[in-house]
Amino acid sequence: MNLNRPTLTILAVTLLAATAAADPVPRDPAIREIYARIIGFRTAAGHDQTKPMVAYLSGVLTKAGVPASDIVTLDRGEARAMIVRVPGRERGRPILFSAHMDVVDARPEEWERSPFELVEENGYFYGRGTTDNKAGVAALMSTILRLRAEGLVPARDLVFGFVADEETGMETTALIAAHPWVRDAEFAINTDAGGGLLDDATGKPLIYLVQGAEKTYASFELTVTNPGGHSSRPRADNAIYQLAHALDKVEAYHFPVMANDLTRAYLGAVGQVKEGEVGAALRRFAADPDDVAAAATLAKSPEFVGTTRTTCVATMLQAGHAENALPQTAKATVNCRIFPAVPVETVRDALVAAVADPGVKITTLDDPEASPVSVMRPDVVAAITRAVHADYPGVTVSPYLESGGTDGKVYRTAGIPSFASSGLFAKPSEMYAHGLNERLPVKSFYEGLDHIYRLAVDLGGAGK
Ligand SMILES: [Zn+2]
Repeated sequence: MNLNRPTLTILAVTLLAATAAADPVPRDPAIREIYARIIGFRTAAGHDQTKPMVAYLSGVLTKAGVPASDIVTLDRGEARAMIVRVPGRERGRPILFSAHMDVVDARPEEWERSPFELVEENGYFYGRGTTDNKAGVAALMSTILRLRAEGLVPARDLVFGFVADEETGMETTALIAAHPWVRDAEFAINTDAGGGLLDDATGKPLIYLVQGAEKTYASFELTVTNPGGHSSRPRADNAIYQLAHALDKVEAYHFPVMANDLTRAYLGAVGQVKEGEVGAALRRFAADPDDVAAAATLAKSPEFVGTTRTTCVATMLQAGHAENALPQTAKATVNCRIFPAVPVETVRDALVAAVADPGVKITTLDDPEASPVSVMRPDVVAAITRAVHADYPGVTVSPYLESGGTDGKVYRTAGIPSFASSGLFAKPSEMYAHGLNERLPVKSFYEGLDHIYRLAVDLGGAGK
């Protein structure tokens, strides 16, 4: 889950006059109960809790009248995913809504409250997964139940994917994407990212971001080997020095500046609410990505450098085996976040050329997969804007490029354009996903439910 990660710390300026809607719709206590129950499942890898969670969720749906024939489960190892279908009146390509049930683990002894118990305190819901991504699971459940209760039938099939391993392998995501109910989906709405930023000081909405692409995550290992020997008799060559020189070159190398329609739209929109030198650079870069001075200013900003190019950085180091021995091996891990459409091999080649030392072996770790950019569809952007403006009139809606990772990349790779829009607004200081004492403003939770319901009705053409 990556709620607005690119701009967490940057938007100190409030220029938008939007204000939150006064009173939310009456709250259904049944959905709060579902939220509380699902926080109670410790769905971290190794705890085997997605199976009982799916049993609980499917039980709730069945009790509400969802036919068993519209629910399927998909297993991969201990992880159990679920797809729920809401059949449409007509034929047409389905729309997928997605959330993940699993969480990053939390150690109860380190938390102030029990992480696996929903606690409501001072306007917040506390618990592991309150934001990432059980609020999304609750929003999917709420939408299915609400459509049924209100007798609304979509024009085409709506399918709801409950992923079981987003935080680890995303293998059940791939199973969902390949399922016959889902594989022809016209696009996906992912609840696990995207959302609104509130000004930390005033609480006013600044901008709403829709995730349309993700950078490719890839790590490379640099290895130097050496015969070694006794440290009292140093050789001319040394594995640690040789690796250190290579890392100097990795540090000095800058990947070329890149831009696409999505990143220009994003940087331009953020530039409208950002003052000073960086704000000016954002506006200039959005207008002209060949503006070298603007790109250089953004390259110095950790918030924006990742949206303007591929970045690689050394993250781990391991060398030597004894204080009094010459090192036989020295290894470094370099983690890269690759700009969309750039092949992983191209980045490896660039590192090899930058290091320019055949004695440094550079290998690709794991099996990184690049995923395409989802071109912003006007119908989807319009529906998201309507849904956001129902609570926050006038706020700017912009796409953004994700630097982290979500299920969206699996769907995009499977040919399903994916847009992440959680509907959750929060202040940067309130973002606790993956961390200690994760929490979500109570108000945001209910707004998130409404957001997904509105998108299902609007995009799905639901009516009586
Ligand atoms: Zn997540």
